[in-house]
Amino acid sequence: MKVEEKLALNAIKNHDESHIVLDEEACARCETRICIRACPAGLYSVEPATNKVIVDHSGCLECGTCMVICPLDAVTWRYPDPGYGIRYRHG
Ligand code: SF4
Ligand code: SF4
Repeated sequence: MKVEEKLALNAIKNHDESHIVLDEEACARCETRICIRACPAGLYSVEPATNKVIVDHSGCLECGTCMVICPLDAVTWRYPDPGYGIRYRHG
C-alpha cells in the first residue's frame, strides 16, 4: 500500500483555528525553510504573492516534526482541541 493510500485511511476533523502558529519574523530570515521538506503531509509551502512560508493545519498528522526540526524555534505547536485532529485507522 502506498503512503498516500495509508494517509487516506485516516480521518481528520479540522478546527477553524490553527493549532500551529509560525513566528513570521523568524521565518522571514530562515535560510533553510526545512519545514517544507520535513512535513510528511506536505502542509508547509511558500505563498507565491508574498514569498512567506505558510502552513495549512488541515491534514496535520500531529507528528511534531516541524516543531522539532525548525532551526529558529519559530513553530508554536499544540495538540488540537479535544474532539478535533486526526483519528488513526488501521486497515
Ligand atoms: S517554520 Fe522554521 S524551518 Fe520553516 S521557514 Fe519558519 S523558521 Fe524556517
Ligand atoms: S506536526 Fe507533522 S504533519 Fe503536522 S504540520 Fe508539523 S510536520 Fe506536518
